[in-house]
Amino acid sequence: METLLGSSTFPAETGSLPEHGRAPDTVLEELRELCRDDHDYAGGTVFNSICSAPLDIARRVFAQHLDANMGDNRVFPSLRRAEADLSAMFGELLGHPGAVGVTTSGGTEANLLVVLAAVRRYHDRHGGSGPARIVLPESAHFSFDKIVGMLPVEPVYAPLDDRLRVRPEELTRLVTADTALVVATAGTSEAGAVDDVPAVAEHTAALGVPLHVDAATGGFLIPFARELGYDLPPFAFDVPGVTSVALDPHKYGGVPIPSGHLLLRDRADAELLRTASHYRGTFDHHGLLGTRPGAAVLAAWAVLRTLGRSGYRELVKEVFTRRDLLLGMLRDAGFTTAMEPQLTVVTVRHPEPARLVDALERRGFIASVARRYGLLRLVVHWHQTAEQLRGLVDAMAAADGPWEGGRA
Ligand SMILES: *Cc1c(COP(=O)(O)O)cnc(C)c1O
Repeated sequence: METLLGSSTFPAETGSLPEHGRAPDTVLEELRELCRDDHDYAGGTVFNSICSAPLDIARRVFAQHLDANMGDNRVFPSLRRAEADLSAMFGELLGHPGAVGVTTSGGTEANLLVVLAAVRRYHDRHGGSGPARIVLPESAHFSFDKIVGMLPVEPVYAPLDDRLRVRPEELTRLVTADTALVVATAGTSEAGAVDDVPAVAEHTAALGVPLHVDAATGGFLIPFARELGYDLPPFAFDVPGVTSVALDPHKYGGVPIPSGHLLLRDRADAELLRTASHYRGTFDHHGLLGTRPGAAVLAAWAVLRTLGRSGYRELVKEVFTRRDLLLGMLRDAGFTTAMEPQLTVVTVRHPEPARLVDALERRGFIASVARRYGLLRLVVHWHQTAEQLRGLVDAMAAADGPWEGGRA
């Protein structure tokens, strides 16, 4: 079996456009074949994904509104209302009901918009078009690798502590009054590490430097986990000095892809992102993408209203309970976790994590290696049952014996 670790793979064999169309049933049959190797979240084999299956209500809404286009909010006025409602709901969740919000395709686009706004603000204030300095944790999501390659910025990286959180005192040493933006992460996707946002914000607020919190992974977990009594720091607008937050409803929000949201404390920051429409009566855009599925926005709206706060609290309680169950199973099977997890990502120390992951893949399970840290990484999500976690740990123990194919 082919493994994709660390590679960029384009399939060698491709289909072609048939001269004459085929019957839908024939195409659906071909499609089944095309999707033969795809995993079903419900099957208990997916342990690398921060995304999961959306709620049933989301599937219905998405299918009903397949033509809704966020790029043309004149044809679909519902979309602007839904976007405003979502911003209000997320703003409330994040401690600032008056936050201005922009729906995005995900965390990557939300982070890109924040950096773009920071660059524009920096050039407005300091003149010129030179690189704007942004300070990020070494753990910053790889969307920032893309972003710093696209925009005129000079990234500076702050080191981490032994639980892979940024060291606030080291980060603040890198921040001066002319820093264009500081980034902190509330839940890294590699290890679920939650930065000490209050400690960072104290310094940035004193200097008047904007602070963006990338809560793509933690945004739907931390508020409810805090309500449930888990010891996690505040990370959003209830912390003075936090100027923007990105969150991804398509991760722990139960919402279909593509769904991200950028929230801004200050309306003036939204102005920095405005692009005037060329058409009279069509509203201006604040995001990067033009045509994009309004169905995802309506589905997000429907999911939030279906679950409510108590629904999310139940889901979060469930997923944290499963995480603790997995930790116990791993310990009993003799595996060593790399650190006490803050959220739902469990990292395991192993002499050869890539070989263990390959051996698991041969047994049908998808786990991953956090390459920057050399750790085996397991993501707990609500698509996994207790028996399926047992299945994973049994497979790990079996695969960890003599390697199939011989141990090096
Ligand atoms: C997933 C993630 C992103 C990127 O979001 P996409 O929705 O994949 O574009 C950014 N930051 C963090 C911390 C993430 O977990």
